[in-house]
Amino acid sequence: MSLAEVLDVRPGEAASMVLHRVTVLDPAAAIDGVHDVVVRDGRIAELAAPGEGEVDGAEVIEAEGLHAFPAFFDPHVHLRTPGHEHKEDVETGTRAAAAGGYCGILAMANTEPPVSTAADITALREQARAAASVPVGFLATVTRDMKGEDLTEMVELREVGAVGFSDDGLPIGSARVMLRALQYQRLCGGTIALHEEDPELSGAGVMHEGPVSAGLGLAGVPSVSESTMIARDAALAAYEEARIHVQHLSAAESVEVVRAAKAAGVKISAEVSPHHLCLTDEEVRSLDPHRFKMNPPIREERDRQALIEGLRDGTVECIATDHAPHQPEEKDVPFEQAAFGVIGLETAFAALHTELVLPGVIDLGLLVERMGGGAEPFDLPRPTLAPGAEANVVLCDLGAEWTVGEDGYESRSANSWCAGRTLTGRVLVTVAAGQVAFRLRSFSLGVAA
Ligand SMILES: [Zn+2]
Ligand SMILES: [Zn+2]
Repeated sequence: MSLAEVLDVRPGEAASMVLHRVTVLDPAAAIDGVHDVVVRDGRIAELAAPGEGEVDGAEVIEAEGLHAFPAFFDPHVHLRTPGHEHKEDVETGTRAAAAGGYCGILAMANTEPPVSTAADITALREQARAAASVPVGFLATVTRDMKGEDLTEMVELREVGAVGFSDDGLPIGSARVMLRALQYQRLCGGTIALHEEDPELSGAGVMHEGPVSAGLGLAGVPSVSESTMIARDAALAAYEEARIHVQHLSAAESVEVVRAAKAAGVKISAEVSPHHLCLTDEEVRSLDPHRFKMNPPIREERDRQALIEGLRDGTVECIATDHAPHQPEEKDVPFEQAAFGVIGLETAFAALHTELVLPGVIDLGLLVERMGGGAEPFDLPRPTLAPGAEANVVLCDLGAEWTVGEDGYESRSANSWCAGRTLTGRVLVTVAAGQVAFRLRSFSLGVAA
C-alpha cells in the first residue's frame, strides 16, 4: 500500500533522481548511513554505496553533507476549503506542506459548511486530484454539521473515502453521542480524532489558566479542561474496544492520562504540535495573537517538559502542526477577540530541529521518527526510504539558517508562530508519492546527468 493509492494527489511525472553521498536517516527502517539514494520512476530503487548509484538520464544531486529522511506526515491540517479560501485551499495548503517536507497530510472537517456528507468528501477528493501537490486525506465530521447531536452517515462516508472522523475545533460534548460514534467506528473503521476540551471548564478562556493569565487579567483555559475529557473518552473507548486519536496534547495532566490509558491497553494514540513543544505561556505577555493565540493554548514549562517526555517515551507517537491559517483582519484585534490558531507546515521540522535537537533535548532520529508517525494512527503507510517503497523523501540542509517569513509563505496566510525567528535546518527538496513536490528556489545543485 502506498500513499498515492489511498490518498488523493494531482497526477504528475514520476521522479527519477540520485542523491549522491547523502546522509540517510530512517530510524523506523533501521537505516542510518551515507548512501546514494536512487529514485527511479517514483520508487526508491536502491540505497547504493556512496558514488555508485546510477540512473540513466536521471537528475543527480550532489548531496554530500546533506540529509535525506522519509518525508513527513501531518495528521492535522486545516485547508479551510470549502468556505474560507481566502485563508487557504487545497493548492496553497499542499504547497505549504511540500515546502515543509511533508509527503502527506490529513485535512480537518471544520470548514463552512463542515464536511458532513458523502458529496462533500467526493468533491474534496476531486479537488485534491486536480490541485494537491502532496497526497491529502479528508476527515469527515463525527456529528452532522458539528452540532454535537446526530451522527453523520459514518459508514457511507467511509465508503466514499473519508480517512477518519473529527469534529476538531470543537469537542464532542455528549458522552452518549461519543459512545454511539465509537460503536459505529468499530463497524466501519476510520479513526476518530478528538479535540479534547470541556466547554464548561474552558468557558471564555483565551489562554492557559495560571499565573501569567492572572497577571494579565485574561480569562484562562485550565489544563483539566483537556485532561478530564481525554479521561472520559479513553474510558469510553475501552468500554467499546474502539479506537481514538487525541489531537494536540497540551497539558502535563493529559500526557499522564494517555500514558495510563495505553498501559491499560486502550487503543489510543496522541499527537503534539511544534508550538506546544517549543513555547510557553510566557510568550503571551507580548499580547501578540498572530503568534501566540491558539486552542489549546501554550501552557507552562512543566507542561512543555511533560510533552517532550511523552514524545520520548512513545506516549505521543506523532507530531502534528494543527496548521490553522487566518487572515490579518482576524488577528489584528485585541488578544481576547482574535481568532485561535497558527500556521506551521513550513516551519515544523526546522523549528523542532532548532529548539529541541540542536540543544540536545531530543535526538535527530527521534524527531524524524515522530514527524512520520502521523500516518499509522489512521492505518496509512508510514513513509520510508526502504528500497521498493514509493518515493517519499525530504532532502535537508541541517546547517542552513533562514528567517521565517522573509521570503513570504507558500501558505495563503502568514500567522506563523515562528514569524521573524531565525531557524537552522532547511528543506531543499521534497518528493511526495513519487513526484517532486517542492524544490527550494535558491537550491540549484542538481545537474542533469
Ligand atoms: Zn483542535
Ligand atoms: Zn485543528
